[in-house]
Parts: sequence; C-alpha cells; structure tokens
Amino acid sequence: MAGSHPILNRLCNLEGTNFEVRDVKVHENKVVWYIEHKDKPEYICPRCNKVHDAAFEKRWIKILDTPQGFQKHIWYVKRARILCTCSLSPVVELISFRSKHHNMTTRFVDYIEMTLCTKMFTVADVSRLFGISYSLAYKIDHEVLFRLVQDHEIPDPINLSVDETSFRKRHRYVTIVTDADRGKAIWVSEGNTKASLDQFFQILGPERCQKIKTVARDLHKPYEASCNEYVPQALQVADPFHVVQRLTQSIDDCRKELSVGSALRVGKRKIISRMNWILRFKQINLSVQQSKSIEALKKVNEPLYEAYLLKEYFYEFFLFKPNEVKQAECFLINWIVEAFKVKLKGLQDFAEYIKRNTGQLLNIILTGRSSAVSEGINSKISVIKKMAYGYKNIQYFMLKILQRAGTLGVNWTSQYH
Ligand SMILES: [Zn+2]
Repeated sequence: MAGSHPILNRLCNLEGTNFEVRDVKVHENKVVWYIEHKDKPEYICPRCNKVHDAAFEKRWIKILDTPQGFQKHIWYVKRARILCTCSLSPVVELISFRSKHHNMTTRFVDYIEMTLCTKMFTVADVSRLFGISYSLAYKIDHEVLFRLVQDHEIPDPINLSVDETSFRKRHRYVTIVTDADRGKAIWVSEGNTKASLDQFFQILGPERCQKIKTVARDLHKPYEASCNEYVPQALQVADPFHVVQRLTQSIDDCRKELSVGSALRVGKRKIISRMNWILRFKQINLSVQQSKSIEALKKVNEPLYEAYLLKEYFYEFFLFKPNEVKQAECFLINWIVEAFKVKLKGLQDFAEYIKRNTGQLLNIILTGRSSAVSEGINSKISVIKKMAYGYKNIQYFMLKILQRAGTLGVNWTSQYH
C-alpha cells in the first residue's frame, strides 16, 4: 500500500498536518499504522516555528492512539530531527498530534483526561479500560488536575466550613475549606496550622473576606486565630459534625477506661470491651439484640450506661430552633452538670469541651447549621483515601480532594485545542 489515502488520513486526524498514512496492518488484537511525511515534507521547528525542507535524520517512533474495543492502535511515525538556526544541536520537529509528555497521540490523552474528569472512574479503572499502565494513568490524572487548578476560580463564599484531614496515616495534615451553601470544597492547603488557613483568606482578598458571614469549624485553636485576624465579622460556629464525632469518641474513651486497667472483674471488663460498636450507634438504629445488650449494660456497669444515655440525650440539643437559644443554653448547662455526676473521665472531658466552647455551640442553633455538608465532604474524602491505597504525593491528594469533593475538572478543556 503506497501513496496518500484521504479517508485513512481523516480517520487519524492527519488533515492539515505534514504527515499522512502510508500503510496500515490489522492484527487480531491490534491495528498498526505507519505514518510518514508527505512527499514534499515541511519540518517545523518546535522552538521558533520556522519551516524547513531538509531533515538532519529520521527515525521511527512508536506512539499509542485510542484503542477500539480490545484492539490497540499503534502508530509508527517517522519523525525527523532538524538543524535550525535557533539551536546549536539538532531538534526534534514539531509533531502536532503527539502528546507533549507521553508517547501517545494528543487525542488519546484528551480522551483519558476527559474520562478521568467525569469522576466516574478511578485511575485503576482507566488503566484497565484503556490498556495502559497504572503509573501512566496516574501521571495523566495528576497532570490534568494540576493544569486545571491553575485557572480554578474560587467562588464568592458566604458561609464557610473549615476542616482538616490526615495524609498518610496522621503524619501530615491538609486543611479543607468548603463553601457550605454550595456543599463543595473550594480550597485545600497543606498543614493544619494558622498559616494553612491564612493562605486561603489571603488569596480570597479583603473584599471577599468581608462578605463571609459564618465559619463552621473544628474547634481547633489555630483556625480560630486565623478567623479572628481575617474574618473578624464572621460568626464562628462549632461544626456539628465534629461535635458529634467528639461525643462518640468520648463514650468510646469511657469504654476503654473501664475495659482496660480498671478495677472491674474480668468478666465485666470483657462484656464492656465488646460493646465498642453498639455504644457508637444511636439508640433508634439499634437492633433488638443490640438493645438488649444496652439493657444488660445497666446491670454490668451503671456509669457507662448513664454515659450512653447522656450521649443519646445530647442529640436533642441540635433540635432547638434559632429562637430558642436561651433554652439551648440551659440545656447545655444541665447536660454538663449531669455529665460531671457520672464519674468517667471520657465524659467529663467532653463536658469540659462543651463548657469551653458554649458560645460556638450555641451559634449552631442560631445559624441553623447542620452537619450535612461536613458529613458529605468527609465521606467523599474517606472514599478518596480508600481509592488510592495511600497517596505518596500530598499535592496529588490535595488536588484529588478539590476534584472529588469540589468542582475541579468539571469544566475540562483540552490542552491542545
Ligand atoms: Zn528554530
């Protein structure tokens, strides 16, 4: 097969380039294309775009095109190196259909990027789907997110939610800022210090900072300092999600307190130790069998049973309406008094925490803030963590949060067109 084939050239999107299809061989599981320069070749310098008519040398290179079903498409392209006045040594000519960083066609890279940006497929899915290596799919994913984040605009937020999450088993942290009204992560920075949140407010600028009305956050001191400095007008609200998380944790601490190293009999300690999950559940979600276990707990250890009941009772705090702040405050005071009567350190620590942060807790009632947004973001982040089997690169992890829990990549555009 020789000469030019307009249909084949069109199939390969070679129209308008200085290349043409010279031959194609169809095998059972692959299609091999041979692509060379047109008869009157023009070689373009990638640096100065000057057109040359002579090549320094030519060599076959192999690039991968979009597969068709289970058939791989391999292109052998005869590329030239040219001598140009802009460079002292020979340079590889410009090949418009070849990806800048990979031995692939630009349209194949575009297709992979677009697929990854649908958020429907993981990197592992994409590597299987297109028959490419995991590391290549990962590189493309990282590249596209990094490219898109350069033009990623932060929308004007009114109500924020600030949270931290660990990277690589609690060794390092990242700070996540969520637009509570849109329910999307809009910013991620490294660390969980004041500087990490400062960075966000600095980028937002003083004008937009002034428009922020509320900041719901984990009651983490460095974030408080940052909010006081940059958004002093904003109401700081405890994030209900974290309050509930701490409450559940406090009951678990009580359980550990009693099951490990306490003066109780071994049999009782064993029963308590086994109650881990039951104590975490809300009463209404318990099965009949589990409810019986809770009832039995009353006999085994009354303080822990009381702590459980107090935990259940605490959920009623979130039911107060914005015009019932006074009642909500009374509720908290009563709750603290009751908690201190139960002689368990875990519960008392939580009561101390409530005492220290009463104002911010009451702001939950005042603003009608729910834990839905943080819950949504947190569940997405735990999916991200599971998906990637431990991220090696913190920057990629941060980009991934912005993509999966935010809007990064939604407006994907090709880098080539
Ligand atoms: Zn040149």
